[in-house]
Amino acid sequence: MDKLDKIYEGKAKIIFETRDPSFVIQHFKDDATAFDSTKKGAILDKGIYNNKISAAIFELLEGKGIKTHFVRQLSDRDMLVRKLNIIPLKVAVRNRAAGSLAKRFGIEEGEILSLPVMEFFYKNDALHDPMINEYHIKAFGLASDEEVDHIKKTSLRVNKILTAFFDNLDIILVDYKLEFGRADDGMVCLADEISPDGCRLWEKKTLKKLDKDRFRLDLGEVEDAYQDVFRRICMGGEC
Ligand code: ADP
Ligand code: MG
Repeated sequence: MDKLDKIYEGKAKIIFETRDPSFVIQHFKDDATAFDSTKKGAILDKGIYNNKISAAIFELLEGKGIKTHFVRQLSDRDMLVRKLNIIPLKVAVRNRAAGSLAKRFGIEEGEILSLPVMEFFYKNDALHDPMINEYHIKAFGLASDEEVDHIKKTSLRVNKILTAFFDNLDIILVDYKLEFGRADDGMVCLADEISPDGCRLWEKKTLKKLDKDRFRLDLGEVEDAYQDVFRRICMGGEC
């Protein structure tokens, strides 16, 4: 599949048209942003790691019956995906307190939550992705009740699958962000990427951060962390 016109350039990826209007190419850049884009930089080869990590995770989830936009990896930085109408929600699922949750509620980072906490944010850069709830989603017509139901069920299923998957790699899945979109036939699919950009991943024994927090907080060894996650997932595999 060839890349045709650029449809959209975001903070971490570029979406290109293909000859088939039902499919687009997701190109992964090294660019990194944090704190509402007030911090900008690049992480060497992040695009390659995130493309391959996302591909492996989407394949895993598809194998468990979860519908995703993933079709196949095209190159180091390019992934062929179904073109979706993105639902403007960021769905966060949290197993331990970290980041904004720890800050908002004054909970110590790392505290295990007694059950996974799901949060919705309205995906809108100009409004700084405000947190919203199911009433806002309904009142503003962002998604139907059935879609919200599906998104909640899927996000929790993904949590079970990925918690076990990462645990096997000696990594704690602290929290993560998902995006969903609608296909032509109305089916809601998992979209975007699942990578250390949007997941908090801690090494089980040392609690070392292996994710974008190393960039956010200037902890150093940022590239190494992405490479470490990539190696653990893809060692011996074909990604
Ligand atoms: P942003 O800065 O908006 O987060 P990204 O750098 O993440 O952008 O680029 C990917 C963009 O493409 C996101 O806005 C995401 O919602 C969108 N996207 C992800 N998957 C698909 C898809 N399958 N079809 C259309 N758009 C998608
Ligand atoms: Mg994004």
